[in-house]
Amino acid sequence: MRSWVEVSLGRIRANFRAVKELVGPGVEVMPVVKADAYRHGAVAVSHALESEGAKWLAVSNPEEGVALRRTGSQSRILVMADFLADERELCATHHLTPVIHSLDDLAHVRIPYHLKIDSGMGRLGTRAAADEIAVAVKKAAAPLEGLMTHFASSGNFENPQTDQQIARFQSVIDGLRSAGIQPSYIHSSSTIPIAYRRTEAWGNLVRPGHAIYGYVSPARGGPANSLKVAPALTWKVCVLEVKEVPAGTLIGYGGIHRAVRPMRIAILAAGYADGIPHRLGNRGQVIVQGKLVPIVGAVSMDLTTVDVTGCDEVRVGEPVLLLGSEGSVSIDAQQMARSAGTISYAVLCGIHARVKRVYVD
Ligand SMILES: *Cc1c(COP(=O)(O)O)cnc(C)c1O
Repeated sequence: MRSWVEVSLGRIRANFRAVKELVGPGVEVMPVVKADAYRHGAVAVSHALESEGAKWLAVSNPEEGVALRRTGSQSRILVMADFLADERELCATHHLTPVIHSLDDLAHVRIPYHLKIDSGMGRLGTRAAADEIAVAVKKAAAPLEGLMTHFASSGNFENPQTDQQIARFQSVIDGLRSAGIQPSYIHSSSTIPIAYRRTEAWGNLVRPGHAIYGYVSPARGGPANSLKVAPALTWKVCVLEVKEVPAGTLIGYGGIHRAVRPMRIAILAAGYADGIPHRLGNRGQVIVQGKLVPIVGAVSMDLTTVDVTGCDEVRVGEPVLLLGSEGSVSIDAQQMARSAGTISYAVLCGIHARVKRVYVD
């Protein structure tokens, strides 16, 4: 294999248990396995989580839910990112639970559903007042099982937006309760409000994605992270060629790196088509034999060049690490994202499908 990721299912299970322990027995944990489980592979990850006791999983669209059903998932599956008209039927036939985002859509719903409130993020969700929602919910042909919202700025404790969203969401919950409507599930927390213990936002169900894969983004202001998780994914790529080049040699597209001394370079069998951010050209690092070495020149579509002058003999076919740890050094998706000017979520989701997944315990 030229390039592959090793996903530790034991680590995924341990991260899930860490979230469960943090939120305690009164709060259900619904791991988010959308986008092919942030590229860790939704089928294998979902089965590992189900075997660990997950009763709910969350996906983005019906197709992702159907893929899990076809491979035997028995848990409840929440479909979070809305539907097009031609996708509606899939939910009923595959026992998926839809999230409804507008009161108009309530007229079409025939199976238990969750309703999303836009409490201030300005994206999906109804902005209707509680009394209007109550009327529509009572008219609907199926029961309201859950009420949810999503935060725009939970990572910034200096920004009042989250408290405002919590207050707005609570006013809808209270308004519905006065109208005699009490959904079984109330949920609004993704990884950050879980990890930084914004307990007033937990409700009785939480929706961690990033944490399941071993990441908690740093937050601005606020308390320390209470959640101990570790990355489940290691990304490896093989060395295709090793060669010595004289001082002055230009490396790769655009000649953006010039060797200032005689240099030994290794050419790696992955590039931006595999998900290595193009922006890492001349700025990223990889781990060769337990040492951090720099990417030199541009990242190409299928190839990346690194400077291994300081390493012992590097052999053709030897794997090096794009993400992972070896010896005393490590590179995780947050570090790669910082070098590339992006976010860790985009680094993980950017790992291309042609990069094989290998599962380890
Ligand atoms: C993706 C997503 C989550 C999970 O977010 P993380 O930050 O990865 O934990 C939770 N809720 C909704 C609505 C999402 O779209």
